[in-house]
Amino acid sequence: MHPPVDVAPLLAEIAARQSDLVALTQHLVRIPTINPPGDAYEACARLLGERLHKSGFVVSYVRAQGAPGDSEQHPRINVIARRAETRAGPCVHFNSHMDVVEPGPGWTMPPFGAELRDGRIYGRGTCDMKGGLAASVVACEALLAHLGDDWPGALEISGTVDEESGGFSGVGYLAKQGYFSKPRVDHVIIPEPLGVDRICLGHRGVWWAEVETRGRIAHGSMPFLGDSAILHMGAFLQRIEQTLIPQLARRRTQEPVEPPGARVSTINVNSIHGGQVEQRYASNADGEPVGDLPAPVVAHRCVAVLDRRFIAEETLDDVRQEIIDMLDELQRTRPGFDYGVREIMSFLPTATPRDAPVVLATARAIARVLGREPSFIASPGTYDQKHIARTGGLRDCIAYGPGILDLAHQPDEYVAVDDLVQSAQVMAVAAWRLLDPHRFD
Ligand SMILES: [Zn+2]
Repeated sequence: MHPPVDVAPLLAEIAARQSDLVALTQHLVRIPTINPPGDAYEACARLLGERLHKSGFVVSYVRAQGAPGDSEQHPRINVIARRAETRAGPCVHFNSHMDVVEPGPGWTMPPFGAELRDGRIYGRGTCDMKGGLAASVVACEALLAHLGDDWPGALEISGTVDEESGGFSGVGYLAKQGYFSKPRVDHVIIPEPLGVDRICLGHRGVWWAEVETRGRIAHGSMPFLGDSAILHMGAFLQRIEQTLIPQLARRRTQEPVEPPGARVSTINVNSIHGGQVEQRYASNADGEPVGDLPAPVVAHRCVAVLDRRFIAEETLDDVRQEIIDMLDELQRTRPGFDYGVREIMSFLPTATPRDAPVVLATARAIARVLGREPSFIASPGTYDQKHIARTGGLRDCIAYGPGILDLAHQPDEYVAVDDLVQSAQVMAVAAWRLLDPHRFD
């Protein structure tokens, strides 16, 4: 029999590391890992790898050679650090993406300055998600210092690339190599900025497809001699707006998607291109064209990209068939209507069961650290859990981390220092419980 675990000294250990946690967050934010194109990945991976090497982790750097986006100029370099003691046991893995989106306009603070002001660190990636990455590092280091040399299982921390652009050269690539499957890994926590008291169980599904309508080219002054692909696309878009969107809005999910407006099926027309490539027209004071010159044609081709997000209660086959049925009906009823569909990407909805060990351990840790019960949520969009579920085949995965989701990708993004410390405490207690569950019963 073990004596019952007292986590208070571990929590104090993490609180005492607050300035280290702030400094690590600042160091990570000051490396501008902007994606696209995927800048400075190696510098960020090395910073993380060298630090974890000093903390006794075995560090590997895995370049996604030849994977989407990888090039000599922008190599896709991931870092994975593992520390295992001699006793067998489960592996707990913390996965964070290192990439950030471009700063964009509207900042009042330097976007890569990582300035600390009034208990907040400001900068691109503070919230999404270098603050969470730093919290997971300090959580593991403090836990290891607390446990000494006698603990079962393994701890892993990874810094991965390209989450903001689909994760195919990051978690997607590593999952294909077995890094996110049993028996190597048992539990995964992704410190995305969901808030210190919320556990994200998964996400809606996504189906991206390109719909093409076809017509017949002719001179724009005699459109009756051609057949406009753009007008055909207009008919399809009208069906989407008038028929499909109201139908989707009535299809409600039981999953706790946040914000609640996303607890239904949705569709977005991501882009549309028809006829000539986009022209830049301009005129001088005499009314003469000075940019591209007008060339009148009837469009023989129009392409729209659909971003269809679907709920756990729908199947991918049904989602796809619904669009094809609409197009088939137009083909039957609208003279000259012809179309093609090309699928770009799809991922199924994921939902980790509420009684999965990683969910229970994190929920108990939140209750212990914050003194309140967590809320359970699901995400409207996908994140790297999609690769862990589909390619890794691992269901024991959640997103949990500091920061306010609404601040992600915004100007003056920040993370609160108190949130960093509390989330690190939650991560450490949750990891300890997952490594050594018998001591917590
Ligand atoms: Zn993120």
